[in-house]
Amino acid sequence: MNTNSATGIKWDLSDLYGAHDDPSIEATLKDCHARAEKFAGQFRPLLRNPKTLTATVAVQALKELEIIYEALGRVGSYAGLVYAGDTAKPEYQDLEQRVEQRSTEIRNLVLFFELEWLKFDDEIANRIMADPLLTPYNHYLASLRRYRPHTLTEPEEKILNERDNTGRNAFGRLFSEVTSSLAFALERNDKKEELNLSQILSLLHDPDRALRQHAMETLYQGLSQHGQVLTFVYDTLIQDNLTVDRLRRYANPMAQRHLSNEIDSEAVRIMMAVTEENYGLAHDYFRLKATVLELPRLALHDQYAPVGKEVRPFRYDQAQQVILDAFAAFDPTFRQIAAEFFAKNWIDAEIRKGKRGGAFCASPSPRLHPYILCNYDDNLRDVMTVAHELGHGLHGCLSRKQHYFNYDTPLTTAETASVFGEMLVFDHLLARQTDPQVQIALLAGKIEDIFATVFRQNVLTRFEELAFSARKEKRLTPEALGNLWLEANGNYYGDAVDMPEGYRWGWSYIPHFIHSRFYCYSYVFGQLLVLALYRMYKDEGKSFVPKYLALLEAGGSASPDALLQPLGVNIHDPLFWRKGFEEVRTLLTKLQWLTAAP
Ligand SMILES: [Zn+2]
Repeated sequence: MNTNSATGIKWDLSDLYGAHDDPSIEATLKDCHARAEKFAGQFRPLLRNPKTLTATVAVQALKELEIIYEALGRVGSYAGLVYAGDTAKPEYQDLEQRVEQRSTEIRNLVLFFELEWLKFDDEIANRIMADPLLTPYNHYLASLRRYRPHTLTEPEEKILNERDNTGRNAFGRLFSEVTSSLAFALERNDKKEELNLSQILSLLHDPDRALRQHAMETLYQGLSQHGQVLTFVYDTLIQDNLTVDRLRRYANPMAQRHLSNEIDSEAVRIMMAVTEENYGLAHDYFRLKATVLELPRLALHDQYAPVGKEVRPFRYDQAQQVILDAFAAFDPTFRQIAAEFFAKNWIDAEIRKGKRGGAFCASPSPRLHPYILCNYDDNLRDVMTVAHELGHGLHGCLSRKQHYFNYDTPLTTAETASVFGEMLVFDHLLARQTDPQVQIALLAGKIEDIFATVFRQNVLTRFEELAFSARKEKRLTPEALGNLWLEANGNYYGDAVDMPEGYRWGWSYIPHFIHSRFYCYSYVFGQLLVLALYRMYKDEGKSFVPKYLALLEAGGSASPDALLQPLGVNIHDPLFWRKGFEEVRTLLTKLQWLTAAP
């Protein structure tokens, strides 16, 4: 039984449905199905003919689609959320699968809309989009057409969709079930304990060096026991991606992600190169940390060792207070929205068996508010996690002004509000500390956090690139994946950190590799972008706030490039990305100064 301060903090999903067997779930699905059939009957013939496809018809169709997608979002989110809350419960597993299956059927009925829209020549499509009636849907309609070269015929698309449930989605579920049922037996103070993944990861931050080392060995030992399955899952999914990429004519494994991120490969290439050019910054930090810990060299299990004086335990109610104060200092709207999440139980924070690890924020649609899941373990890192997810939550709430198709942001800017939220909370905490040891702890924590978001995610992305290109040659073995993982990490840690042999399993529990390939570079993008934006906020003061709010309210109504232009950001300029690292250097210099003081 867990006794930390977040025990009992569970979300209230009654805004969605009453229970997993609520009859309105079935009613929603039936209604969606009926609407989708009617939609097909009404619009399929109209859309086939350029003469009958007028702007009025298109708007009617889009509005009806919005209703269907909103409703599907409600059931899908509910099923996903109850399942995340208890992945071991068979009723929830059943519900999740049933909803997934039915949603696919319904989506298949309306799939023709997008496909027919892609079939029109540019000339016809542009003429229709030029009609003022369609202005609100312009970004969506234009975005869809970027997929034109990569779209298959309707029957092919249907087959792929249906086969995915027993194909790639099933492998994804297998991964979730294996990783969330992992139990690590750890001996501590002459007592045997059984820990889940997030609990054992949390021990890597423990002050006791021997315990950290033991936890790390136990973690990799435990993962290696499932190595065969985890390797098989990843290998299969990479091959699946390669096959689908070939069918869809994507030039390389990252191309599809760039397209959905609405970003060009050149911007990403520049960003990643500038990040690698700054690995030396990490080496400087690791050497400083070794000095502070009085070690000749840092071992991997020392990477997250606390330095200075920790503010611990950090209770959940304290976290709430600090976050609300920090948000209030930026803008009263921020505080007001965040307060609702706590007051109305939109957050599931307690740690319990069977619950999904890590943290996420789900923003189903403009008609529904977001929900947050985290595993709060009474430490400062988890305060930052809550701040991060609440940043997403704010974004999800502010962009509810947009209609359904303009609601979601691409991944590249999806992390902006979350990381910005963390910066606000960090600065707020730092400014209120007088004890240099506490300041040291905070600064080191922040730097490590930035490293985890920028450098580590860059490493993760390089690893994926390596894994995809190796899979083109042959099937991936645990040995091969381990070597690629150590290779990508070796460039980052250099000779500043010792990597243990067991670390070759470090890739195996990372959900992004399974559920959303090449997701990780958007963390790099988001963090560096925010470091620069935050600098602007400090320079410009309150006049920055409305520009930033406007960015969040805009949701996904334009491409990131276009949304960022009013803020003066050029993502193709290496100097812009270097600005982010100047900020990191400033934090590091401050820390060097504090640790050198007598
Ligand atoms: Zn996030």
